[in-house]
Amino acid sequence: MHRLGVSTGIALVCAASSVCAQQMDIYWIDADGAAATLIVTPERQSILVDAAFNRPEDIYSHRIKAAMDDAGLEQLDYFVATHFHGDHVGGVYALAEMVPIIEFIDYGDSTLTAGRNAENFERYLTAAETGKRTSVSPGDVLPLRGVDVTVIAGDKEFLDGPLAGSPGPNPVCEGADPDGLYCRGDDCAPTGLDSDGEDIYSLGFHLSMGDFQYVNVGDLSWGGLHALVCPSNNVGTIDLLDYPHHGNNVAPQFVWSLEPIAAVSSGGATKGGNPDGFEVAAASPGLQGYWQMHRSLGSDDAHNTEERMTANMTAENDQAHWIKAEVSADGSSFTITNTRNGYSESYTTR
Ligand SMILES: [Zn+2]
Repeated sequence: MHRLGVSTGIALVCAASSVCAQQMDIYWIDADGAAATLIVTPERQSILVDAAFNRPEDIYSHRIKAAMDDAGLEQLDYFVATHFHGDHVGGVYALAEMVPIIEFIDYGDSTLTAGRNAENFERYLTAAETGKRTSVSPGDVLPLRGVDVTVIAGDKEFLDGPLAGSPGPNPVCEGADPDGLYCRGDDCAPTGLDSDGEDIYSLGFHLSMGDFQYVNVGDLSWGGLHALVCPSNNVGTIDLLDYPHHGNNVAPQFVWSLEPIAAVSSGGATKGGNPDGFEVAAASPGLQGYWQMHRSLGSDDAHNTEERMTANMTAENDQAHWIKAEVSADGSSFTITNTRNGYSESYTTR
């Protein structure tokens, strides 16, 4: 929380130097169960992934602006709309009036053609008129200095080959049927691509910087998560996972194939964060830290992470604490901090 002066000072050094060895910062901004993740590269290029809800007094847009101020940013290089639900693009209209957004990235035109969701898309288009709008597909790369951001999902399309290497058949997929059910023991769920409306269209991307690997797939639903890792894991293993869909209905084969070292869930007090999603994380091989933006008030202690790794404990008197990851410039390690209590853990990347 004391980084404003530090970041601003180093940003000036970076601007004047061809060699810039500062860390990458990732902020999970509290939006009460909506999504807003701000990524700031070592060269202080920025990507805001989703912009939370449209709410009175533009409360969430101001919270995003506060994180930008903390990072010393005066503009956003990219806004990435994972999809067009209101908890992902609702706040971008107000934000675009507060700060310059250079480029708006999305999966294409919305599938939502009626009601409030269609309004969200129209407002997104209006916001995007303040900058440049680009629709992307799996395999496309966002041009950034020193960081590789590759689109892995969008518009019901998915990577059709491995990001790196040739992983071959994925043993985690045993028991999974792309047209039927995925079962572990008696627990079966659909894996197809026909369910869940807008969520299945979510844009997802893989970010790498040196040895550090991060994935964010928005609210991509079960069939899409399945398609990325079965029958072959085209994403590979990673270090940090933006836990999908606010922690709800997360396909285990996806999490267990990526084997993240740490994960952060954007679940709110009463939105997202269901017990099934927590159980998938708890059983994920190699997961050392599971961080929650909010305690899930509908789940018991056994289905919430530790209090010290939870940024916001109640729905009332919400102080909007954020979770922040700081990634070393060579990608060899990262530290996650809960800004409510200053608790942090450091992890070594693969
Ligand atoms: Zn959502």
